Amino acid sequence: MNKKIVVQKYGGTSIGDVEKLKLIAKKIVDKKTEGFSPVVVVSAMGKTTDELVDMSEKVTFNKVKPDLREKDTLLSTGELVSATLLAMSIKSLNVDVLSLSGQQAGILTDQIHGSARISDINTDRMMKEINDDKILIIAGFQGINNQGDITTLGRGGSDTTAVALAAALSADVCEIFTDVEGIYTTDPRIVKQARKLEYINYEDMLEMAVLGAKMHPRSIELASVYNVPVYVAGTFSKKKGTLITKGDDMENNKTVTGIAIDKNVSKVTIKKIKNKPGTAASILKPLSDQSISIDIIVQNIPMDGYIDFSFSVSDDDLGRVYDILMSQGNLEFEEVIQGKGFAKISLVGTGMQNAPGYATDMFNALGEENVEIEMITTSEIRITCLVKEEDVEKSVKSLHSKFELDKD
Ligand code: ASP
Ligand code: MG
Repeated sequence: MNKKIVVQKYGGTSIGDVEKLKLIAKKIVDKKTEGFSPVVVVSAMGKTTDELVDMSEKVTFNKVKPDLREKDTLLSTGELVSATLLAMSIKSLNVDVLSLSGQQAGILTDQIHGSARISDINTDRMMKEINDDKILIIAGFQGINNQGDITTLGRGGSDTTAVALAAALSADVCEIFTDVEGIYTTDPRIVKQARKLEYINYEDMLEMAVLGAKMHPRSIELASVYNVPVYVAGTFSKKKGTLITKGDDMENNKTVTGIAIDKNVSKVTIKKIKNKPGTAASILKPLSDQSISIDIIVQNIPMDGYIDFSFSVSDDDLGRVYDILMSQGNLEFEEVIQGKGFAKISLVGTGMQNAPGYATDMFNALGEENVEIEMITTSEIRITCLVKEEDVEKSVKSLHSKFELDKD
C-alpha cells in the first residue's frame, strides 16, 4: 500500500463542539476517499485547556503553583477527549480509524514539563496502522519523556506536533486548519485591505508567527529545518489558504511581506543608573536567570557618568521584572519606571535584506501620522518600532498602504 500520507491539524475552535467534530469527521473521510492516508492531529476542544489550567490553579492551597508533572498529565487529557471522540465519529461511518495518545504515537520528548521539546518520534506503530489502511487521529501537544511521564509542548503546541509528524512520516504536506483563512499581510481586523498571501517563506513566517500571527513559532522552525510545506487554511472555508514553504523564487521579488503586530508589550526604564563596564549585564542577568526574555534595549548617551536604560518585555512579565529589579541591592539607580500599553509593529520581509531605505520610509510614514516611536530594533529581515498601543491602528493602516501591501 503506497498511499500518500497527509498530515492535517485541527485547532480548538474548529472542533469546539460535537457537531463540528462530526463535520470534520466527514472531511477526513473524504480525504481518504480521494486516495490519501490521513494522519490527523487535534487540539483540545474549544477552551478546554484554559479551563484545565484554571482548575489546576484553583485546586492548590496558598496560591502554590500546581505540580508540573501532574499538570502536564492533566492538560494532555484535553487532546485525548477530542481525539477519541473524532475517532468514534469516523468509525461510525464504517471507516477504519484509530486514535493514539502522544505516547502511543511514539512521540518522545525531553524532561521539561510545560514546554517539552520533541527529541524523537518512533513511527513503528503509526506506520503499521497506516499500512493497515487506518486513518490515524493523534492527540496533539503531548509526548512522553524517558521517565515514562507525560509532557506537554507548551501552549499552542499541537501545530508543532503536526509538523513533527509530517517530517517523521515523510508526508507531502502538513495542512493546518484553523479559524482564519490563511496568513495575511497584517491583521485583517485592523486593516480591511489586508491581503491573504498565497505563499510565504519560512523566515518571514517565523517573524510573523513570533510577532502575533497565530501559529506556534516552533512549528515553523521545525518545518524549515525538515523542509515540510505547511498549508494554512480555514477549516470550513472553500477558499484557498496560504502555503508556507522555502523561499526561492516565489514572492521573493516582493520586498515587504507583511506587518506583524504584538500588542502585549510593556516598557521598563531604569532612570539614572551609573554607567560602568558591566552595567547592562548586571541589569539583565537576574532577569535572564528567571527565564524572562528582554526584547528591544535602548541605552542613552551617558550624562555625568549616568545613563537611562530601557527595554521592552511582555505584559505578563512586567510585574516580575519590577520586583526583581527592585530587589537587586547592587544596582544603584534613581527609579524604575514601568509602563504598560505599548505595541511592537514590525515590517517583515526577507526581500529587505541589504536594501536600505525601508527603515527611513517606515519612520517617515509613522512621522506623518504623528506617531512617536519609543524604541527601534532591526534584524536583516525585520524593522520593529515600539509605539503606544493607541497608535497601532493608524500606524499599521498607513504602513500597509505605504508599502503597497494591498496590491498583488
Ligand atoms: N490545547 C493546547 C492549548 O490550548 C494545545 C493547542 O491548542 O495547540 O494550548
Ligand atoms: Mg493554536
